[in-house]
Amino acid sequence: MTALACGERDRRAIYPGSFDPITNGHVDIITRGLKIFDRILIAVLENPVKEPLFTVAERMAMIGEIFSGEPRVEVMSFQGLLVDFARNHDARVVIRGLRAVSDFEYEFQMALMNHKLNPDLETFFMMPSVRYTFLSSNMVKEVHRLGGCIRDLVPPIVESNLDEKKRRAERSIS
Ligand code: ADP
Repeated sequence: MTALACGERDRRAIYPGSFDPITNGHVDIITRGLKIFDRILIAVLENPVKEPLFTVAERMAMIGEIFSGEPRVEVMSFQGLLVDFARNHDARVVIRGLRAVSDFEYEFQMALMNHKLNPDLETFFMMPSVRYTFLSSNMVKEVHRLGGCIRDLVPPIVESNLDEKKRRAERSIS
């Protein structure tokens, strides 16, 4: 990366989500985003309403390991309003992935609401490679739980952590 001239701001974007767990679709969006932005802050949502499979710390650790060789990626947790998080971290862009038309309505509403709450915050939509357009964290968890192969869908660390969760769950039942 070229050094920033004096007074020049880095192009910093936030990529918020549950990442429960991160999939190759997320990784694809982050990799593409790094071609456009100088720095991507992955904001892992702490949502007490949803019952996640992985704790926030586990989700952050997996993401940290996957991008351990990429100093332009940072991982943080957040709760509350995204616009506040963005303001506190001096970011003006939010990255969101669009898989299919079904994502559009919710994303459209959220982008407009965030823009209303902070007109300086822009939402930047990106499409993943076509092979990840059907992929969601929930789908991965479900396929893995039922014994399907998820090798091409998640990074190896995620697959081994899902295996471990499953072994523990089976042990606690027996
Ligand atoms: P989900 O919506 O599957 O629960 P997240 O909350 O972790 O996942 O999603 C964070 C962001 O990543 C959202 O903008 C979502 O649309 C996007 N995303 C999730 N999976 C993919 C994928 N396979 N390809 C592109 N974008 C994705």
